[in-house]
Amino acid sequence: MRAAVYYGNSDVRIEDVAEPEPGPGRVKVKVHRNGICGTDLHEYYDGPIFISAGDPHPLTGQAMPVVLGHEFSGVITDLGRDVTGLTVGDRVTIEPVYRCGECRPCRSGHYNLCTSIGFHGLMADGGMAEYTVVPVNQVHKLPDAVSLDLGALTEPMAVAYHAATLGEVGDQDSALIYGAGPIGIGLWFALRGLGLTRIDVVEPSPTRRTAIERLGASTLDPTVVDVPALIADRTDGNGVDAAFDAAGVAPAVESALACVGERRPLISVAIYDRPLPTPLLNLVLRERRIQGTLCYTSEDYRAVLDLMSKGHYDTKGWVDTVPLSDVIDGGFSELRAGRRMKLLVDPAL
Ligand SMILES: [Zn+2]
Ligand SMILES: [Zn+2]
Repeated sequence: MRAAVYYGNSDVRIEDVAEPEPGPGRVKVKVHRNGICGTDLHEYYDGPIFISAGDPHPLTGQAMPVVLGHEFSGVITDLGRDVTGLTVGDRVTIEPVYRCGECRPCRSGHYNLCTSIGFHGLMADGGMAEYTVVPVNQVHKLPDAVSLDLGALTEPMAVAYHAATLGEVGDQDSALIYGAGPIGIGLWFALRGLGLTRIDVVEPSPTRRTAIERLGASTLDPTVVDVPALIADRTDGNGVDAAFDAAGVAPAVESALACVGERRPLISVAIYDRPLPTPLLNLVLRERRIQGTLCYTSEDYRAVLDLMSKGHYDTKGWVDTVPLSDVIDGGFSELRAGRRMKLLVDPAL
C-alpha cells in the first residue's frame, strides 16, 4: 500500500510499504481522509521534534521512519483477536493518543497529560496511508449523521473543544478567540455548542476573517480596532468571561490579557515558537490567569461527535482535499504559505 513516510527534516516520501495486520485488541482501518496538522508541518520543516530519531517510543516501540497522520476517519476492514464491540464495516474516527494507564495523570483520568504520551502518526505508523492499525480503546464509531469527511476533523475539533471547556463559560458568557485558523474555528464551533452567543474572533488576516465570517462568526481586525478599548466599552470595563489564544504570538496574548475579566482565564491552545515579553502585572492586578490546554480525552471526542451529529459543524470554505501523491507540494507547502486553511489527504489518490 502507499503511505507518506517521514524520514527526517524535509524528507517525507510517498512509497510502497507493507499493509499492517491487526494484532490482538487492534483493528485495521481503511483510511478515508487524514487531515494535515500544524504538527506535521513542524516535523517536516523544523523537526524531528516529537518523532524519535533514536530510541523507540516506550508505548509503541517505534521510531523513525514512521508513517505520518494523526487526524483521520475510515472504515474497519479487519479485527484482531479479542476485539469486542466493533465490527468490519464500522465507520470510525481515531483518538490518536497512546497512554500508559499507570502514571499519576492517567490514574486521575487526565491521560492527555500522560508522562509517556505517544501519538499515532508520530510515534506509531499513522493515517497518511491506505490502511492503518489502531488499538480498540482509541476507536470511536461515527454517528450515522456524521460523514467520513467531517469525521476526519474530530481530532482537531476535540483539541478546541477541550480548550473551550477549560474556559469554564456558560451560555450567558462572552468570549474572545485570537486566531481564526482551524483551532480558532474549532473553538468558535465548540463555544457555540456550549451555548455562547457573544463571541468575537480577533484575526488580522482578511482571508481567515472572511472564512470564519461565512460560518457566522463576528470578527475584529486588530490592525484597525483597539480591541481592549472596544471590549472595555462594551462590557462597562468588566471584560470578557474567557479569552482563547489560538494564535501564539505576543500581541495576541497581550491583548487577550487586557480584555479578560477579573479572576477569569486566558486559555492557551497555541504553539509558542518564541518566549513572550508580555508584562504579567496585568494578570496579577486582576487575579487573571493563563491556563494551558493539551489534546483531549474520549469525553471530548464524544461531545464533539454529538455536536457534529446535530449539525453544529460546517466545513464550507475552509476545508479542502489533496491527493496523497501530492501531499508535500499540494499540501504542506500550500498550508505553510497560508494559501489553504485545512487540508484532508485522500490516500486513495
Ligand atoms: Zn494535530
Ligand atoms: Zn500515563
